[in-house]
Amino acid sequence: MQRGNNHGKLAILSRMAAPVAAITSQIGYLTTIMWRDGTETETGAASGDGDAATPATLRVLLAQPRGFCAGVVRAIDTVEGALRKYGAPVYVRHEIVHNAHVVADLKAKGAHFVEEIAEIPDGATTIFSAHGVARSVVAEARARRLPVLDATCPLVSKVHVQVRRYADTGRAVVLIGHAGHVEVVGTMGQVDVPVHLVAAEADVAALPFAADAPIAYVTQTTLSIDDTRGIIAALQARFTDVIGPNTDDICYATQNRQVAVRALCAEAELLLVVGAANSSNSNRLVEIGTAAGIPSYLVADGHAVDPAWLDGVATVGITAGASAPEALVQHVIGVIKALRAVEIVHMDGAQENVEFRIPAALRD
Ligand code: SF4
Repeated sequence: MQRGNNHGKLAILSRMAAPVAAITSQIGYLTTIMWRDGTETETGAASGDGDAATPATLRVLLAQPRGFCAGVVRAIDTVEGALRKYGAPVYVRHEIVHNAHVVADLKAKGAHFVEEIAEIPDGATTIFSAHGVARSVVAEARARRLPVLDATCPLVSKVHVQVRRYADTGRAVVLIGHAGHVEVVGTMGQVDVPVHLVAAEADVAALPFAADAPIAYVTQTTLSIDDTRGIIAALQARFTDVIGPNTDDICYATQNRQVAVRALCAEAELLLVVGAANSSNSNRLVEIGTAAGIPSYLVADGHAVDPAWLDGVATVGITAGASAPEALVQHVIGVIKALRAVEIVHMDGAQENVEFRIPAALRD
């Protein structure tokens, strides 16, 4: 399917990619351009050997923003800081972030990943993952006197606080999220009273409350903006006394990446989302591409790219979930370059400058 090319929406060789004072050099048929901000992109020359259905040069649109968010950076920095300060091994409860490459890298440096506190030896440095943990997990670690560093994203911790406050006021707490996701398990475990999980609008009808019951909702941080809006509207339609955060708890990074991928889908014929199968925010990005009507695939890295996907495609959009390193995006681009000459295009989009401080114990 050929989509419209609205070049006016694109930042072709602009902003991030502005070739001001660019240093160029020829490497084979590729032109390497050193951008002012130090990033480097390569523009492939048309090979001229494309068939009638497949344009010789493939435009590769890169979403802005994409990849690591502040919570993921903080979590990884926490593990690396602990390894530096306390030495290996350190024990991380659950994958520190949902990306196998990140986990493998930290394993190689001496981090051990476990699912239960019981698996952690006495006295070992213990780190909670970015997704947060239930209070029972905190209590178990405390009972064992484990030295704990909490890498829970502050935006997840904020939701935990909301749940406790709402429950303290006697409201029935509804959590909008996906069953079994580790963040959801941690959020539901913030209070002793039941937290009612709602994953879709249809679930609202099954909530066991009277129409005038006091209800409070919170949301998982990595949901679809559109789906969540619909569920909140369904809650407000069924119940007369509903409170919650201003709109939802979907974090800035999830929202920015969803907005960016929508812009990408307006231009691209194919969407590749770099991310892990268990990454919630990455899966939401794929869903947006599919809803936009273009073939959309989640790829762990370049090895997962099927060359057949590119047949007849003139423009591919690439983004990355919040836990996917930029190196994996570049790996995907590298694999594509081996198949087709490419033109790299950086989309305009939100510039993020959010930073979260690492745990106090690790600050020098
Ligand atoms: S996706 Fe959002 S909530 Fe999750 S770690 Fe990143 S900033 Fe925090």
